[in-house]
Amino acid sequence: MRIDLSGRVALVTGSTRGIGRAIAMELVACGARVAVAGRDLAKAEVVAEELGEARGFACDISVPSDVTTLIQNVEDAFGSLDILVNNAGITKDNLMLRMKDEDWDAVLDTNLRSAFIAIRSAQRGMMKRRWGRIINIASVVGIIGNKGQANYAASKAGLIGLSKSVAKELSSRNILCNVVAPGFIRTDMTDAMSPEAVTALSAQIPLARLGSPEDVAGVVAFLASDRAAYITGQVFSVDGGMVM
Ligand code: NDP
Repeated sequence: MRIDLSGRVALVTGSTRGIGRAIAMELVACGARVAVAGRDLAKAEVVAEELGEARGFACDISVPSDVTTLIQNVEDAFGSLDILVNNAGITKDNLMLRMKDEDWDAVLDTNLRSAFIAIRSAQRGMMKRRWGRIINIASVVGIIGNKGQANYAASKAGLIGLSKSVAKELSSRNILCNVVAPGFIRTDMTDAMSPEAVTALSAQIPLARLGSPEDVAGVVAFLASDRAAYITGQVFSVDGGMVM
């Protein structure tokens, strides 16, 4: 049976490009109506137009009031919010010794605090409707750590702890919360790497290639669906076997 999300409304943060865009596209393909969000309204509206059953919203996810307003605007526009995908994320890499306080704060505010606020805002409607799916996009780096990414790894490990706590708090209301932890996926984030670095990296991946945004999107669509009704508080690595 194919995944059927018809009648559901989804919000994917950071869906103007990369993994978030692929997730939004997959959810629309499965029948959901989707809110596309990024910092630039025009960009979000262009992507929404390309996807079809979608609308664009502007939100700087690192600003708490923007996040609560986003959730409200999506609920007002679509009448509900059933599937929340916290995907927006940034890196500001440096060795610990050189990492500035503002780089720590920017990464934690964008990657972790945003998810806390979005979940707190969205849970009210989900609780009333007794149905909800929250999917947080972490990273292998949140599981195994990485030199030069203390801020990023902490934010992604934080998402895992947040998700397990949310899963326990909201399970009685049929709200499920899971994590997808991608490995190295071809997007703007990884396009900055040299071809030599990509070759060296691929050698450490059992499936011997970087992943595609669609590799991640398929798992998110499954977790958003009724086919995943008995799964909560779990971390799904989509990393070509890097971490096992
Ligand atoms: P991209 O850099 O390609 O895209 C990031 C998205 O997040 C964009 O849509 C951007 O929108 C949005 N975004 C960034 N900052 C903000 C902000 N302050 N407010 C609102 N939106 C924001 O990233 P990827 O697609 O590669 O990554 C997506 C997620 O997957 C991230 O959480 C990342 O950590 C995670 N991940 C990625 C991996 C990879 O290899 N690519 C590996 C593991 C995890 P805009 O610029 O329009 O505002």
